Amino acid sequence: MTKGKKTSAYRYYKMEGGKLIRLNKKCPRCGSFLAEHRDRRSCGKCGYTEFKQTEA
Ligand SMILES: [Zn+2]
Repeated sequence: MTKGKKTSAYRYYKMEGGKLIRLNKKCPRCGSFLAEHRDRRSCGKCGYTEFKQTEA
């Protein structure tokens, strides 16, 4: 039997354009995961973009 001890973090990543994109937040519009960028997050489905605030 296989125990569910796989890297659970893997499911929060996806390949897009040869890059590994971290997916950790969902789009408030359509509910799909947002693509993590340096300064923003964006939804590939509906085009929603969320800018990160650079504060500690
Ligand atoms: Zn969306």
